[in-house]
Amino acid sequence: MVVDKQLTTTREERGEAIAKLSNQIQRVDDCIYTVKSQSGNGEYCVTKVDGEWVCQCPDNTFRHVKCKHIFAVEISVLLRAQAVVRKITPLENLTQCIYCGSSNITKDGVRKNKSVMLQIFECHDCHKYFTFNVGFEHMKHNPQAITSAMQLYFSGESLRNTMESLKLLGVEVSHQTVYNWIRKYISLMKDYAEKIIPNVSDTWRADELYVKIAGNTKYLFAMMDDETRFWIAQEVAESKDKHDTRKLLEMSKQLTGKKPKTFITDGLQSYHDAYKKEFWTLKNPRTEHVRHITLRGDHNNNKMERMNGEVRDREKTMRGLKINETPILQGYQLFHNYIRPHEGLDGKTPAEACGITIEGQNKWKTLIQNASKKK
Ligand SMILES: [Zn+2]
Ligand SMILES: [Zn+2]
Repeated sequence: MVVDKQLTTTREERGEAIAKLSNQIQRVDDCIYTVKSQSGNGEYCVTKVDGEWVCQCPDNTFRHVKCKHIFAVEISVLLRAQAVVRKITPLENLTQCIYCGSSNITKDGVRKNKSVMLQIFECHDCHKYFTFNVGFEHMKHNPQAITSAMQLYFSGESLRNTMESLKLLGVEVSHQTVYNWIRKYISLMKDYAEKIIPNVSDTWRADELYVKIAGNTKYLFAMMDDETRFWIAQEVAESKDKHDTRKLLEMSKQLTGKKPKTFITDGLQSYHDAYKKEFWTLKNPRTEHVRHITLRGDHNNNKMERMNGEVRDREKTMRGLKINETPILQGYQLFHNYIRPHEGLDGKTPAEACGITIEGQNKWKTLIQNASKKK
């Protein structure tokens, strides 16, 4: 006898399965979600009416049962709520033995290994000694030196000034070493940060900045959240007018799990083409595209212009360096989102404005440790 697999699972289990797949559920706002049909083309709109979820599918509309789409949306809402109060803590605060997981541990002196000073812990259950150096294993220099270098560099210091400042801390390294640290850790942090969903607002702004790196002219396309200043996505292109911005919009949807209600850009045609493909839908509520002709000193474009200034400062210090721009521009995005307090956000970082808190004195270190943590 052949048993239809669909019949052996409950609607709740099927809902869970949908919620676990990527790109099946789209959040429009707190009360409106769309869920892709699992049997064919199209999607169902799941809306909250008087505190109850209602779905357009036959199961819910005609048979009045709680359908798999509603189960999927409920799980998605839950996951989102967890993401909203996300706290990322330093690993030193996770006071558990790295071998047996016991919290019965105490500090037991420090060990100095070249320039690296590590606190040793003793576990009173499995009687092993260990250190927390997650993310910085096999590095000749300590986390303080490495993260200081990144802080100095992304604050706008040149590689040379960064090296000079490190010398005062007793750390002598070449500019190649500093660049290698940046490349290694930015790539690690980027992969980690992309899994954290920021709670961005419904108004997004895309723009492109002209950057000149190692003598080459490039365009940095960026998607920013208007309210929290969170820099959602970036893409580097060879040309401004010929560049297809669709990937930028697609990445932004993926990284936030939503579409904006208002999308503001300059008059570049590519944004409108990409908007039609990625943001526009037949159904309401639709994303509105506001094409904004940029005028010098235009009040409405201030937010983008400020970032423009920040990246240009960065460019000055990169002049003459034969380097690949990718880790630097990604590093700038991470610094902007997670490290640098923003005046316009009452001293909060854009990530904090999106509900993501990085704890500890040294946010670079907290991020690197968590990005390196084995699951
Ligand atoms: Zn349904
Ligand atoms: Zn132990």
